[in-house]
Amino acid sequence: MNVVHFCRFGKVSESLLRELPSAVLGRVPKDLIQISIESTELDPPTNSYVPNRLQYLADFFLGVLEQHVPSGDHGFALVNLDLFVSKLNFVFGVAQYGGNAIVALPRLNPAFYGGPEDPELFFQRVAKETLHELGHVFGLEHCRNYCVMRFSNSLGDTDRKPDSFCSTCFSELAK
Ligand SMILES: [Zn+2]
Ligand SMILES: [Zn+2]
Repeated sequence: MNVVHFCRFGKVSESLLRELPSAVLGRVPKDLIQISIESTELDPPTNSYVPNRLQYLADFFLGVLEQHVPSGDHGFALVNLDLFVSKLNFVFGVAQYGGNAIVALPRLNPAFYGGPEDPELFFQRVAKETLHELGHVFGLEHCRNYCVMRFSNSLGDTDRKPDSFCSTCFSELAK
């Protein structure tokens, strides 16, 4: 059993953090992961902020998680800040194979685009991106099937993909 510590950086609603595991555990092979919730707010790494982009470099957050979780375990964090990585304008999430993962919340929120709040849609998007990044942590690559492991280049891609793994990816995870 792999232990995944669910954490948050900065201001992230605790109820979101607590509701997420049930959306994940019902969709992965039984006995793949055990989730431990950590409600302490981790401080965003100050060196990650890039003022001329008004964004944060995702890599530093993964570094903090790596230091934070016990070795052999995995860390997963929700980050309520706009993240990017080199060569991409923004990311919904980032993962390291066999390591840790993060999901950035702002661009998953309908309110970011000036739309009305939609907590249900927002939660669905967060759940999909969380499953996707955890899929990478446990060895999956992008998938062309109707599958949560489809690459999301835009929010439309995220909304169109399902909130579960295709049978191929699911059986990969079960190995
Ligand atoms: Zn991906
Ligand atoms: Zn798949």
